[in-house]
Amino acid sequence: MNIKRDNIDLIVSASELTSVFDKKSSLSTLLQDITEMVAEHMSADVCSIYLFDESSQELVLRATVGLSPSSIGKVRLKPGEGITGIAMKELRPVREARASANPAYKFFKNIDEEKYEAFLAVPIKKGLSRIGVITLQHKQPDYFSRRDTAALKAIASQLAASIENSQLLMSLKAKKSGGGECTNVSIKGTGIGMGTAAGAAYLFNSRRDSSFIAYKNLTEDDDLEGCVDPDDSDEECLDLEVAAFDKALELSMNQLEELQYNIDDSLSDVAGMIFTAHFLMLRDDNFTGEMRNLIHTGIKPDEAVRRITSQYVQIFSKSDLPGIQEKVQDIKDLEHRLLANLYGESFESADYSANIIVAEEIFPSELVKIWLQKARGLVLYGGGVTAHISILSRSLGLPLFMTDDRQVLSIPEHAELLLDTGSDILYVNPSDVIRSSYQTAVSAESSVDENVPEKAVTADGTELKVQANINIIHDVDAALRVKADGIGLYRSEFPFIVRNEFPSEEEQYRLYSRIFTKIGDAECLFRTLDIGGDKMPGYSSLKAEANPFLGFRGIRFSLGYPEIFQDQIRAMLRAGAGHDLKIMFPMISSLDEFLQAKALVLDNIEALRSDGAVFNDSPALGAMIELPAAVEIIAELSRAADFMSIGTNDLIMYTLAVDRTNERVRDMYKPWHPAILRSLRKIALQAETDGTELSVCGEAATDPGMFRFMLGIGIRKFSADPLHIPEMKRFAEHCTISDCRAFAEAAVAAESVEQIEASFYG
Ligand code: PEP
Ligand code: MG
Repeated sequence: MNIKRDNIDLIVSASELTSVFDKKSSLSTLLQDITEMVAEHMSADVCSIYLFDESSQELVLRATVGLSPSSIGKVRLKPGEGITGIAMKELRPVREARASANPAYKFFKNIDEEKYEAFLAVPIKKGLSRIGVITLQHKQPDYFSRRDTAALKAIASQLAASIENSQLLMSLKAKKSGGGECTNVSIKGTGIGMGTAAGAAYLFNSRRDSSFIAYKNLTEDDDLEGCVDPDDSDEECLDLEVAAFDKALELSMNQLEELQYNIDDSLSDVAGMIFTAHFLMLRDDNFTGEMRNLIHTGIKPDEAVRRITSQYVQIFSKSDLPGIQEKVQDIKDLEHRLLANLYGESFESADYSANIIVAEEIFPSELVKIWLQKARGLVLYGGGVTAHISILSRSLGLPLFMTDDRQVLSIPEHAELLLDTGSDILYVNPSDVIRSSYQTAVSAESSVDENVPEKAVTADGTELKVQANINIIHDVDAALRVKADGIGLYRSEFPFIVRNEFPSEEEQYRLYSRIFTKIGDAECLFRTLDIGGDKMPGYSSLKAEANPFLGFRGIRFSLGYPEIFQDQIRAMLRAGAGHDLKIMFPMISSLDEFLQAKALVLDNIEALRSDGAVFNDSPALGAMIELPAAVEIIAELSRAADFMSIGTNDLIMYTLAVDRTNERVRDMYKPWHPAILRSLRKIALQAETDGTELSVCGEAATDPGMFRFMLGIGIRKFSADPLHIPEMKRFAEHCTISDCRAFAEAAVAAESVEQIEASFYG
């Protein structure tokens, strides 16, 4: 057995070394130092570190002593490839007496590896996350012992945390310096909405942390020139500083007023209240009043603003209510605005017209805000994007890109970004070739589709209905432009989730009336509130839930809060007077729920009648079919409801147990899974048997294969995002019902996803 120098010493030294990593100029210097240290302590001829590159899914050699330095960055292995790749894939150490005898041994030219026979590879991992592999090599066969394996494992586990931290810190440094080696990088993710966007990166969450903002020095203000000394607190200076603060405050209020004034009327439902919260804070004596008090005691104005905002941020960020956390962003926003105005900076964040926003999280109200401030696109890191964020960004026509790739965390401020939602790619500082190939696409998208067919008719003359899914009043214009056959789904929760309070019956009545005024005689289907779980409005006093998708949401929320439900139902009935009104309940899981909701509507009809109100006393009442439970009891629901609409977005999620918002399981979210196709057919057959009106309002219908399948099982009514309506109408012209029937029959008989994919797209 080879006794090496004291391995325990080495572990301590490695941790010492890594604790100073922030003094290193780069991660590569840190790794190089580590390989030298480990090689020396373990008396190995070679020590190398490979890191796992998430975007290419490869192990890349990042540092080595013993192998050719030119191989750094060039040697790349897939997990499972070579001995190093096996250690990575199987997350276990691999020790070989003679590496060349292992069938997996991979020979690389020109790296001088062949002379080393003994091989020890240990994965660097943290939990389930694969960070890389550390390897040792030696000329003498069978050189490494079990003790060496144990020592290298201990080192690897220390390295895991340090490398992860240093990657984060380095990315932070890159952000602060606005630099980094981030050129011509492409990042994979999920694009939402249609189109491409180009602009400079604006780091949203971190940017609003005031430590990232370089302000002009106070001395540049002539009046305050004599007051720069921190100890200087004579009366005259204090008065000047209070005056400077009051001026910044007034300016901030004027800016907010202007922002609100400029909000388009068709956005008043979602945008109306957003800046009001800021107004109220600025007027609040506990907030700005406290800042003024501090200035009176001799604290400089900028410091006063920072101290008070940081107190509020600390209090609010401790709350586990998402709505309160949202206030943290409001406060940081105000801090930024006040400080910028205090220092006479033009308040550029009010205008993101040249920017693509990069954020780790965003609330619906902020999404509306950055859109109003003309952002070109939004890049979000990590999971946890609520369905509402993606739906809302589509309504606003704001290209959204979500990714789990950590590289987005190191995008430098102002880096040039090119976002292609169609190909699910984000380019950072793209090359000239990529940039110019997108230039035509970006300008072509701004042209409007003028020739949308009036009706959707199949090649054999069957007329279909293609209605619009709308989320905010603004969408009605898009629905009219694409000649939708009415509104097939109004997601009524948006005014609830982006404002600071539940809208009253009167407010809702006015909103709903405006939709009817715009849409005229066409049919309009209002879905009652679908909030709860991850879609909770900020002001709700409900606690966050461990399993929000399985929590207190949809119709459960409405039945649990009859006062809120009642306000909404009354507003819908009143606004629907003289119109073709349909009301649909979301997330129905039992006949009992449907009947309870229906009873509440009937009670309100009676109440409105006795009030002598003008209202619609015979709305059609429908059930949304989006849970596997609803599919199982479809016969009962079909007989009880006036109509049904299939919400494939959730039906797929709940049937396949695949979170629709989770980037990591995206490939498993398959609308054509046999379980989904059979569920759809079962629903369609039942509706046909009972003569119950049926539509599909989930996105699956916008997929050509799924659209043909749905036609084949007898579905004739669809509702989709206005963006997709032109292509659906045109696609219908190429379908015949008889072909679609045969197509659907074959698909339902298929046993596996693979078989269906072959017949849909093969
Ligand atoms: C659905 O679930 O398919 C649907 C249309 O509703 P939402 O996307 O609002 O959940
Ligand atoms: Mg749904």
